[in-house]
Amino acid sequence: MTDNKNLFRITEERRRVLLIEDDFVCQEMMKESIGDTYDVVIAESGEEALDIIHEQHDTLSMILLDLNLPGIKGLDVLSRIKSDPEYSRLPVIVMTSDNEAEVECLSLGAMDFIPKPYPASKVILARILRTVELYEDRETLRMTERDQLTGLYNKEFFYRYAVQLDLYHKDEPTDAILFDVNHFHTYNDRYGKVRGNEILKRIANNAMSYVKESGGIVCRSGADTFMLYCRHLDDYQALLDRLSADLDDGGSGENRVRLRMGVYVNADKTVDIERRFDRAKMAADTSRDRLTDPVGFFDHSMREAEILEEQLIDDFHAAIREKQFVVYYQPKYNVKQDRPFLCSAEALVRWKHPTLGLVSPGTFIPLFEKNGLIQELDYYVWSQASSQICDWKTRLNVSLPVSVNVSRIDLYDPELMDKLLNIAKKNGLRPEDLLLEITESAYTEKTDQIVTRVKNLRECGFRIEMDDFGSGYSSLSMLSRMPIDALKLDIQFIRSAFKEQKDTRLLEAMTGLARSFGVPTIAEGVETAEQFTELKAMGCDIIQGYYFSRPLPADEFEKFFAKEYEEENLC
Ligand code: C2E
Ligand code: MG
Ligand code: MG
Repeated sequence: MTDNKNLFRITEERRRVLLIEDDFVCQEMMKESIGDTYDVVIAESGEEALDIIHEQHDTLSMILLDLNLPGIKGLDVLSRIKSDPEYSRLPVIVMTSDNEAEVECLSLGAMDFIPKPYPASKVILARILRTVELYEDRETLRMTERDQLTGLYNKEFFYRYAVQLDLYHKDEPTDAILFDVNHFHTYNDRYGKVRGNEILKRIANNAMSYVKESGGIVCRSGADTFMLYCRHLDDYQALLDRLSADLDDGGSGENRVRLRMGVYVNADKTVDIERRFDRAKMAADTSRDRLTDPVGFFDHSMREAEILEEQLIDDFHAAIREKQFVVYYQPKYNVKQDRPFLCSAEALVRWKHPTLGLVSPGTFIPLFEKNGLIQELDYYVWSQASSQICDWKTRLNVSLPVSVNVSRIDLYDPELMDKLLNIAKKNGLRPEDLLLEITESAYTEKTDQIVTRVKNLRECGFRIEMDDFGSGYSSLSMLSRMPIDALKLDIQFIRSAFKEQKDTRLLEAMTGLARSFGVPTIAEGVETAEQFTELKAMGCDIIQGYYFSRPLPADEFEKFFAKEYEEENLC
């Protein structure tokens, strides 16, 4: 599936035609007819022709084929050209005196005929030009509708053709299937892009051969994600096995390339086509990492989740207008000295929904990150938190920095810095009063761009905390380039260290690693006295969690100030 250089033809460059003809007189006559318009390359036998096609197919615009050849016969040459995916698209015009051969040639894929003896030159030229132009138009379309790497449709055309397929097969049960590679980015990091691309091409070939045999259409919809729209199946594991064939060059265990799949069985054709594949994606997400059961299905509970998501999106703007989003504050304690002291708070949003009650951010943040509404919500939360800091300063004479969460999506907003600076200014704050929590995984895509943006924020005075540290697959060399003022260990390390089978080794290693960056280490999700004591002993500087307090509404949070005042320690 190579790029076809014909498509990038400079208009002055002459098109090249391969003439497969053993008869010298016929060669000369044809050159006489078309030689002024085309560059003519001659092959005197089928073998020679196949060699030239193999070497030069990228530069050829079409082939003129005599059927009566020595050695490999013309019909065999034709069928070999047409059965090789590399050059099957090259148009072939057959030259013959045998009218009977036409049907067979057409069924083998010939585009047109030129009878022998040859007609007038202008007739030959007109036929060749029509064929070449048809081919070039088809190729241009192909280029726009295909993914360059794999030759599969791209997503836009795939959706278009899927809708057409529905028109032809209105009543046929059809499945929307999405599949991708488990942890493709780690595979890519480990073995390099070239090998990564090779894997994607193999998956594409497997999918293409399946579709050719069983019908349906397939596309590559994103980096390592493919979508298949096909007649309803019974055995999805068999399909997954077929798509996964020959992906490993002897790789085994951890190194094996594994696919996972999500299926929306008997997709409802009244639902928008993109939505049908969103459902397949939702199903695939349920199978992530499930090595023994890599196929997930869209089911009733997902439909309910989808209905809830629709409602949350519909209600969003009214909720902002009516201030239904409420910011809670959770204290962070500095534990470096004997007596812990309150050093900041994290602003965490909740939605007081009029019919659903208190909705937790875990339900709506990922959804709003998907559709971009998160930018509006975060702006709202930052403003609320800033005016709260200002209120505490003026009313209670307490200066407490507050950390706000900055979503990965916000970091792509070129106006992010201006927005934050304006909010701070409006509330009479210095940038130092706001800590920005940025999750580690925000740095994994477009790392350079993100690092630069975060550096700029830091240069303006905002302090940066890396949230969920240890969950984002960052390499050590990458971490050392990150502009950060504090590291917040991912809550999972604490959870798994203090499970029934207590094992703190990984937690110790992560704490040690975090400390080696020379910035304060924060542990969140700390619930018990035992966890508190051990984390303090491991060298954590700041601790946040239910051990001190759950996140609280602003007025309830104020009790911590009173407590600090009593002990005269508030910064
Ligand atoms: P996060 O930023 O890592 O916040 C920590 C989460 O851990 C919070 O969950 C907090 O309530 C919870 N937590 C704190 N201490 C404990 C504990 O001792 N035990 C347990 N089990 N959990 C504890 P929450 O508030 O549900 O927030 C979840 C996530 O939603 C946050 O994770 C953050 O990524 C996101 N989020 C919350 N508010 C915002 C926001 O305003 N903007 C953005 N972009 N994301 C937000
Ligand atoms: Mg956070
Ligand atoms: Mg966190």
